[in-house]
Amino acid sequence: MNRKSPHSWRQATKLVRGGLDRSKHGETAEAIFMNSGFTYPDAETAAARFSGDADGFVYGRYGNPTVEMFEQRMCLLEGSEACYATASGMAAVFGALAAQVSAGDHIVSSRALFGSCFQVVSNILPRFGIECTIVDGRDIDAWRAAITPQTKLVFLETPSNPMLEVTDIAAVSEIAHKAGASVVIDNVFATPVLQKPLELGADVVAYSGTKHIDGQGRCLGGAIMSTEEFKEEKLKPFLRHTGPSLSPFNAWILLKGLETLQLRVEKQGAAALEIAQWLSDQSAVKTVLYPHMESHPQVELCRSQMSGGGTMVTFEIDGARDRVFDIMRRLEIIDISNNLGDSKSLVTHPASTTHYNLGEEGREKVGITDAMLRLSVGLEDIEDLKDDLEAAFVG
Ligand SMILES: *Cc1c(COP(=O)(O)O)cnc(C)c1O
Repeated sequence: MNRKSPHSWRQATKLVRGGLDRSKHGETAEAIFMNSGFTYPDAETAAARFSGDADGFVYGRYGNPTVEMFEQRMCLLEGSEACYATASGMAAVFGALAAQVSAGDHIVSSRALFGSCFQVVSNILPRFGIECTIVDGRDIDAWRAAITPQTKLVFLETPSNPMLEVTDIAAVSEIAHKAGASVVIDNVFATPVLQKPLELGADVVAYSGTKHIDGQGRCLGGAIMSTEEFKEEKLKPFLRHTGPSLSPFNAWILLKGLETLQLRVEKQGAAALEIAQWLSDQSAVKTVLYPHMESHPQVELCRSQMSGGGTMVTFEIDGARDRVFDIMRRLEIIDISNNLGDSKSLVTHPASTTHYNLGEEGREKVGITDAMLRLSVGLEDIEDLKDDLEAAFVG
């Protein structure tokens, strides 16, 4: 056993120590290099760095020591060769897609996507001549029918927001690869702790660091996980010149978030399962969706693809929108917020907020109703969360 190689460490050790690059001062925590530029001892060194003959930083938009520590820790966690840190999750998703398509290319995407991701595939990329076919991610035959030899990439989110639908990553990857298309996964809901898309056959994984990786409501950030070749040949030429760089300060926050990521996701996930089971027994609640609960329509796939059910629970109140809003108003601990993956429990009404833009017809297609609430379970004592919900149901 080589204790010195970070690759041989177990996950918890990687999360605390991975990528740590101490300065000459020997600081305990990772240092924040809050600078935009770099200096060189002589012109030859500058020339060598620009030509690629020598390693070293040249400019904040190209790289930064604190950002690089975050990238290396993410690589160890994901088991990927490379990571490109970005300013937000959307910068990661857009970068992962736009860096590898050109006008005339075709992409296939699942319908159940985070709102801004849906805008990218349905409105933004088509403006640049990229054609997109949208399919029901659960339907493997639909993927098979939509993917053609012209398909450059497929994009999907699993589990999806807010319906917690899952797509079989291995099956879709096999179909895509046969057609020569690459597979990009938005793994935000599952987190890098519970689902490893690269091991299931995907090529590129995108994260919003804003969600569980920070997990304490402090900053935006994102990451694209891929092979070294993809980073060098596709991501760098696109992202270095378009500029969605992660701030060194935010990279530092995300590094500290990673140290407790496994603890938080495991604790919040266990609480989410318990709350999902408890909600199933409440007369005020009509339906409950949770990936690792027996009642989930795809529970077997959820269990085989994710090592835990995650921190999100979606449920329907027995009543109309007024009744749902009254319940939300009566909550005293759980906050109303469209954010998720936070240590504070947050509830949102997708139909009037995150999925308002889909329109009534769009929401109907995905199955989002007016009675539906999405709960991101935090780190509070679970009995306090149940008391808060129960009091809100009774009114
Ligand atoms: C939040 C989120 C994003 C976008 O991340 P930002 O950091 O807000 O840009 C993308 N996909 C999913 C599933 C998300 O939840």
